[in-house]
Amino acid sequence: MIQIPISLQDLYRTLPSMDSLLALSGLSELQTEFGKTATKTALDQLLAEARTLIATDRRLPPWCDNLDALPGYLHDRLAQQHRLSLTPVWNLTGTLLHTNLGRAQQSEAAIDAVTSVMRYPTPLEFELHAGVRGHRDNTISNLMQQLTQAEQCCVVNNNAAAVLLMLSSVAAGKEVIVSRGELVEIGGAFRIPDIMRQAGCTLVEVGSTNRTHLRDYQEAITENTAAIMKVHTSNYHICGFTASVEEAQLAQLCREKGVLLISDLGSGSLTDLRRFGLNNEPTPQQMLADGVDLVSFSGDKLLGGPQSGLVVGKSQLIKKLQSHPLKRALRCDKMILAALEATLRHYLYPETLDKHLPIMAKLARTETELRSLGSTLQQRIQPHFEPHFSVGLVNSRTQVGSGAQPDTTLPSISLSFSAKGKLSLTQLEKHFKACERPVVGRLTNDQLLLDLRGADCALAIQAQLQRLGDAL
Ligand SMILES: *Cc1c(COP(=O)(O)O)cnc(C)c1O
Repeated sequence: MIQIPISLQDLYRTLPSMDSLLALSGLSELQTEFGKTATKTALDQLLAEARTLIATDRRLPPWCDNLDALPGYLHDRLAQQHRLSLTPVWNLTGTLLHTNLGRAQQSEAAIDAVTSVMRYPTPLEFELHAGVRGHRDNTISNLMQQLTQAEQCCVVNNNAAAVLLMLSSVAAGKEVIVSRGELVEIGGAFRIPDIMRQAGCTLVEVGSTNRTHLRDYQEAITENTAAIMKVHTSNYHICGFTASVEEAQLAQLCREKGVLLISDLGSGSLTDLRRFGLNNEPTPQQMLADGVDLVSFSGDKLLGGPQSGLVVGKSQLIKKLQSHPLKRALRCDKMILAALEATLRHYLYPETLDKHLPIMAKLARTETELRSLGSTLQQRIQPHFEPHFSVGLVNSRTQVGSGAQPDTTLPSISLSFSAKGKLSLTQLEKHFKACERPVVGRLTNDQLLLDLRGADCALAIQAQLQRLGDAL
């Protein structure tokens, strides 16, 4: 056979023109669905990619051989580009408050509150009845007064910001004493020593990693000491031969010496978690009752609200935080404040918390309930995954996540997928993530697990998994 050399120029000439592509049947439907501009941009991209392919590989892309299929191909590309990246997923990882998956799901009341302030003007900094200027943190501050007996509250973007603002406002240029057992790294670049430096404080470490005593703090206090800071070791646990000093004891020492006692509580649950079989977390209200001057905690961990950081404590100190220039940089917007207000209002009716706050509802699920959900799902899904995967039911453990309660887990039930044929679990995991509402599970050595404690809309999960199974 004679090989006819094709010149580059011939290849470029073979490439369809923009006008001929726009004239293809099916293109006008695309323009109606995605708009003329986006459709033309996609075609431009396609032609540019083709020119690159000609230059590098001296060949045309496959779509040139089958122009009838081009509108369909383009539709998939445009649909892909139009998909929001912050799309809903199912978090069946076995970690309820997953930082990478957006932590706490909001209550329906919080969702309504956010959408309405997004849609309409709202008196964010306006006292409607008095007709005077108000403060954006007032509502939250009043609620926190009721819920924690705090004199006032200051709200910022997250707890990291709360700690930074707290230290910058009450301890800049001075010494802050922290136990060596509490020099926490939360993740990312948030380490207590770094945040101290950033706030302009001098960190004074006392005690040892496993044991710190009252006298250690006592001996470290100088005329330059602004505060003693307690950091809740939320994401790890030191056990064995240990000692730390309770807040109540430290509060007494601080009062005698005229220094402040401040606390980074981390998760800061407002309710007793023992009803779920978890350990009790120290609450902000307990800290304040023990004599802590300022307590900071997250809004989107066990509190179950939007990403935010709250500082509660004495009026005269909160006023310092409110008037610090950093507060303006760290303040929350109306959407966060609306969601936070709606979340906190649930705490005024504690009997209904487990029903309204998704994180509480998930913690409250019983093993019996989960097992019955699991066996229904397993029976209905299993046949759809034959002959590639077997679908079983296994006992598993759910963790709270986001650094809360690192050593306690709750019993749960997981759907378990095991490979029986040529398809691997890694491939299955990819399929899960490519679903219309992606499913995020947990891959172990020889099983892909979907922890059902994190499941909502069980019927929708069932339908989606059945569709996926049929398409394998
Ligand atoms: C989670 C946590 C933080 C950081 O809180 P964010 O709300 O994520 O900024 C700070 N300190 C402690 C002890 C924490 O557990």
